[in-house]
Formats: sequence, structure tokens, C-alpha cells
Amino acid sequence: MVEYQIKVRGITDERLLDAFRKVERHLFIPGNSCQFAYDDGPLGIGEGQTISQPYIVALMLDLMKIKPEDIVLEIGTGSGYQTALIAELAQRVYSIERILSLAKNAEQLLKKLGYSNIKIQRGDGTVGWTSENESEKDITFDAIVVSAAAPSIPWGLIAQLKEGGRLVLPCGSRYVQDLICVKKEHGKIKKENFGGCQFVPLIGEQGWEK
Ligand code: SAM
Repeated sequence: MVEYQIKVRGITDERLLDAFRKVERHLFIPGNSCQFAYDDGPLGIGEGQTISQPYIVALMLDLMKIKPEDIVLEIGTGSGYQTALIAELAQRVYSIERILSLAKNAEQLLKKLGYSNIKIQRGDGTVGWTSENESEKDITFDAIVVSAAAPSIPWGLIAQLKEGGRLVLPCGSRYVQDLICVKKEHGKIKKENFGGCQFVPLIGEQGWEK
């Protein structure tokens, strides 16, 4: 998977490639589909949701330019596979999933795999990380990734992006989107388009209606 799907398409960051070598994708795919875990495509993870094609996950993480000291926010935990990859690359990962059963399964699996730098919340990620915890009230992130298709860039996420931070998300219609990387520089937003993609919809206050 790493050699023939990711490296060959131009992802060369060795720290990122090592994370893909380490995290076993088949552990995150339920039922019979786990035999296709290393194939070059998306797969179902239950509740009508999908785990993205490995290359798309790699491209999004590459665009995020995650450093070991970074605090990262992920919207759309899904199976927890991408969460584990981020946990390998960053200091800490905060992840939000809308569907309770997916959030619970991912949390259990990631705990079983020994990750101690991940915090999962069930809720609407379009408004960012919300917490009653005083230390997390005004939290901001070095990088944010949205793994579901947004109709526009959620302003709540821009507000939680640190100066110099990177937000990567699929943005467009409900069925076809462009992969966008947003950088916050000197308080201003710079957008770059990395081409077409297809994700399940981001459902919530600053996303699509259910
Ligand atoms: N990255 C995940 C993985 O590795 O398995 C796959 C994510 S899947 C393509 C998109 C996920 O976003 C789904 O699990 C869906 O329930 C979730 N989602 C959709 N809208 C959301 C929202 N507003 N807040 C949080 N999660 C949301």
C-alpha cells in the first residue's frame, strides 16, 4: 500500500510513510471488508459511512504538515484509522464524530492499541471543539482536518486555527468536492485547491442538513 499507492503518487515524507507502515489498516475495517483493507479505494465502516482511499488520507495528512509538537483537531473520527495516523505524527489529537456508535468503537479500539494522546468527542464538529473543561475553553490547533464534505469552510474551524495553522477539507457540493488547504497567515486566509475528491457529507450547523 505504501509503495504502490502512496509513494508512487508523490508522497515522500518519511515520517508520514512510517506512520502508514505502522498503523494496521485492517484493524479498523469491520466485517468481511477487512480482507480489502490494503486495496486502493474507500471501504464501508458501518452506519452508511466510509474510510477514505489510503492515498487520499496520505495526501490530506501531507498537506497538514504535522510536526511532533503539534496539537491537531480531526472532524469525522469514523473508524479511527486516520486518528491513529495523526496520533503517530502529532503531540495530541482531538477528534469529533457525529455518530455515537462510531465514536465509541473508535475510542475503544484506539485505547486497546495503546494510544494515550487521543481525545474523542461525540458531537457536531462543524462548530469546532467544545468543552466545559477550563483548560480547553479557548483551545486552538496547529492543524485541522475535516474528513467529510463541507458546503463551505466552517468559520468555527477557522476561529480555532492557530496563526500559521493549516486546515484541510473537501469542499463543494454534496456529491463532488475539491480538496482545499487553507492557511492562516497574519490573520488572513489563503486557499489552495488540490483537485477533485468525493466524501460523505459533513452534517451539522455549519455543514449540510441531515
Ligand atoms: N477518517 C475516517 C476514518 O479514518 O475512518 C473516515 C471519516 S468518514 C469519510 C466521515 C465521518 O465524518 C463519518 O464518520 C461521519 O459520521 C462524520 N461526520 C459527518 N458530519 C460530522 C460532523 N458534523 N461532526 C463530526 N463528524 C461528522
